[in-house]
Amino acid sequence: MHTIQILGSTLLPLLGLSAGLEECPRSQGDPELVITILFDNYATHDRFRSGWGFSALLETGGHTVLFDTGADGQALLENMRLLDKDPMDVEAVVISHAHGDHTGGLQALLDQGVRPRLHLLRAFPADLWERAAQKTDVIRTPPGGEIVPGIRTTGRMGTEIPEQALLLDTREGIVVLTGCAHPGVVSMAERAGELADAPLHAVLGGFHLMREEAEAIQDVLQAFRRLGVRQAGPTHCSGDEAMAAFRQAYGQAYLSLGVGRVLRFARTGG
Ligand SMILES: [Zn+2]
Ligand SMILES: [Zn+2]
Repeated sequence: MHTIQILGSTLLPLLGLSAGLEECPRSQGDPELVITILFDNYATHDRFRSGWGFSALLETGGHTVLFDTGADGQALLENMRLLDKDPMDVEAVVISHAHGDHTGGLQALLDQGVRPRLHLLRAFPADLWERAAQKTDVIRTPPGGEIVPGIRTTGRMGTEIPEQALLLDTREGIVVLTGCAHPGVVSMAERAGELADAPLHAVLGGFHLMREEAEAIQDVLQAFRRLGVRQAGPTHCSGDEAMAAFRQAYGQAYLSLGVGRVLRFARTGG
């Protein structure tokens, strides 16, 4: 009895073992990419502030990247607070394109004292570059350029309204994240497919189809099928008609977004 007691109380802790199940070391979960929608035309709950615009927080491999900043900085910061996201954790901000519904929250974010690297296209207006450069490091994003490991940009697309989308690495393939997709969501998905050495798992964000006819929306759906896009999450400027068409076509693979939505994808590697 005595020996057993010693073994139980002394030896097990020395071996790094524990008799209590609750003290067992937790097995580390698979690494994840976590996408949290911070600003959108839609919200998952009325406690969030919604409005015309888009912003998503990306957490992957210990890195925190903000994609777009929405139209309203106070709403962005309030939604971050409600979702328990600290602005000081943002190490990089990527702006998809220089429209106010994507850049509007940037100043309020910088006013928090956070100094993220800001990834802009060279084609963005000079005043956006200059205002941002007074506060933080601004970096030009080339096609395929890495923001942090596991997150790359398409680089500049479009002529009239230059825009970039993001490629997010997951175990299932690439997740493409678009701001407004002014150059065309199919073109942006195609570019992502060319840059990525992986299947296109999902396309999420603003698809800019709100003024398109039903036939044009079906063409986009067909192109998504041709590209092998397995999941779709149209939101922001996608338009109700397109969102309904995608929801019907994708069924279970339709990703409903809106402020407060959290999407988790398994990542490859650590
Ligand atoms: Zn736009
Ligand atoms: Zn927009």
